[in-house]
Amino acid sequence: MLHTSVDLLPRTSGLTKKRLHALSINTYEDLLRTPPIRYEDYSHKITASQLPQFDQQKCTVEGEIVSVMPIQTRSRITLQKVRIRDRDGFVEISFFNQPYILTQLKRGMNVAFSGTVKQFGSKYTLQPETFEAVGPGIPRIQTGRILPIYSQAKGLTSRLLREKITNILIAAKQIDESLPTEMLASHELLPLSETFFTLHRPENGERLQQAKRRLSFEELFTLQLSTKLIKKQWKDITLTEQLHFPATFEKKIEESIKSLPFDLTADQRNAVRDILKDLKKEIPMNRFLQGDVGSGKTVVAAIAAYAVFLAGKKTLYMAPTEILAQQHAKTFEKILSPLGVSVGLETGSHKDSKKKKQYDIVIGTHALLSSSFSAEGVAFVIVDEQHRFGVKQRARLRQKGLTPHLLTMTATPIPRTVALTAFGELDMSVLSTTLPGRKPIKTFVIPQAKRKDAYEWIKKEIREKKIQVFIICPLVDESESETMQSVKAVKKEYESLQAIFPAFSLGLLHGKMKSKEKEQVMADFAANKISILISTSVVEVGIDIPNATVMIIEGAERFGLAQLHQLRGRIGRGTEQSYCYLFSSTPQSSARLSFFAKTHRGIQLAEYDLQERGPGNMYGFDQHGFMNMRFASFSDPKLIEETQHAANHFIDTYSLDDYPYLKQNINVIQREDVSKD
Ligand code: ADP
Ligand code: MG
Repeated sequence: MLHTSVDLLPRTSGLTKKRLHALSINTYEDLLRTPPIRYEDYSHKITASQLPQFDQQKCTVEGEIVSVMPIQTRSRITLQKVRIRDRDGFVEISFFNQPYILTQLKRGMNVAFSGTVKQFGSKYTLQPETFEAVGPGIPRIQTGRILPIYSQAKGLTSRLLREKITNILIAAKQIDESLPTEMLASHELLPLSETFFTLHRPENGERLQQAKRRLSFEELFTLQLSTKLIKKQWKDITLTEQLHFPATFEKKIEESIKSLPFDLTADQRNAVRDILKDLKKEIPMNRFLQGDVGSGKTVVAAIAAYAVFLAGKKTLYMAPTEILAQQHAKTFEKILSPLGVSVGLETGSHKDSKKKKQYDIVIGTHALLSSSFSAEGVAFVIVDEQHRFGVKQRARLRQKGLTPHLLTMTATPIPRTVALTAFGELDMSVLSTTLPGRKPIKTFVIPQAKRKDAYEWIKKEIREKKIQVFIICPLVDESESETMQSVKAVKKEYESLQAIFPAFSLGLLHGKMKSKEKEQVMADFAANKISILISTSVVEVGIDIPNATVMIIEGAERFGLAQLHQLRGRIGRGTEQSYCYLFSSTPQSSARLSFFAKTHRGIQLAEYDLQERGPGNMYGFDQHGFMNMRFASFSDPKLIEETQHAANHFIDTYSLDDYPYLKQNINVIQREDVSKD
């Protein structure tokens, strides 16, 4: 029943069906899971004599229509006056500008009206908000109860949704339970059937809370069950390349660590240990290395790749942009070529198809997976700074006949609640120790009036200290990818800054430039041939230029805090004090930005973002099906923990095959997850 298509809804027009589909309401279940945005309580059923007592309140009257009168007022407004008789008098109901009422309401009909009581002079009338014909055997749908109000998108009214949903509920009578009955009892959950009835036809607020809790529980539970099952399946897959380490392995790793120009932090050591442990196992690693910007993830990845080299196998390293791929290739080369490891670059502009098979480590962009690149001998894949955390990549890898050990890295801090649910399939290593010698970046929100002063100060700093500056232009629209509009904006900014800084060398960087050009600009900036780099947020991730100590972010209010943090992480990478200046065009955003200015830990910023903007904005989850949580929230750690236990218990106790409904929903989650690009 639940999976019945809305195309089969009785007495429903083709247009309505089309509109439902447009809102991704494709099945009866989708309809039943449509959350009301609020409720109006019309459950007070009163009679004519009670009107004065209920002045300004919502209530319902009902009776036989005795007259319906169109009235033309002196202004443009038309009035439709309906009079009904109930058991102790008459009630007048006035519609404004709704002439079609005259065709729907006729003398002699029995009708209930819900609305607000209004006083006009000494008279009380009901200003109707909804009505329906009443009679024996006709269910109450639009009046006389607590009514759900739905978001009125795409021409679908609350009235229509109420009608369709109630009809499904009435026809279904009993809806099959999706969860084991024992779980309902142990977690004090309403049965699904009762939940849907309550959500759309609540008797009281308390019951409604229980219904919402049940639906939140189910969403979190299903999501966690899904990620846990993926994790379990992943462990059943055999590696395409089993690693066998030589006896000298531990010693060589230790030596490689000693050869670094710095000591690893405790967190870095732990992460290396976690990874090496995984690499020795017969099941594929699926680990997530999470560490704030500049926390030193690259070197951890390099040591892991070295370990794989010692076992005689290849590593694939995928960076999000070509610039980063180039930078990482250099870093890897610096660390690993003295140890006899060969590092090769494989990007759109660097293709060296004859040589690539000889490299021990191939570094490229995420596009590597869709290219003709040969995966032979690859045992380890590292995915750097990826928002989509590898599920898609895993599917792609498998298409290439490759099941490697997988390490995904991100600087996006993930609150624990999100990690447990959305990323439950991954093992986590976290770098949270700050690197020695790093000073927190001094961050200021700058009022427009001080803009000139800021520019003057920058000129002085460049002259005296030879420092370098990033100027980041805002996203023109909200989408994550760069549009031509953003490019235009950054070009314009570049031109006006040339007039402000005539004595300095300026560089321009945006995503629509050819990679050769980008490379040149980055090389010039790295070599301090460019003092001020004007850029879109393409510099967001990973770029490492220690001499750049000042950053200006224009239109700072347009960025999420996590993203601002990523941007800010491009400076403060040396031992000099760094400064970040935020320009904002709207004063309203100041609370967020001030919080950002005084907060240096990514995880705190991420928690703030999660509270203020929801997960969609943080992770680009909004287009992501399984993040469409309609009832649950990531800010409920108690329920998240409870559902986590429930998911573990389910896996230990039940077979998904006995719960077809749950199984279907999990399939939907997993399918969406893999197919979305
Ligand atoms: P991210 O985690 O953002 O990828 P990187 O790996 O780019 O950070 O590291 C940032 C900088 O810190 C690099 O220049 C790197 O050489 C340096 N670094 C890494 N680990 C340490 C350490 N333990 N002590 C000092 N510097 C380090
Ligand atoms: Mg990095």
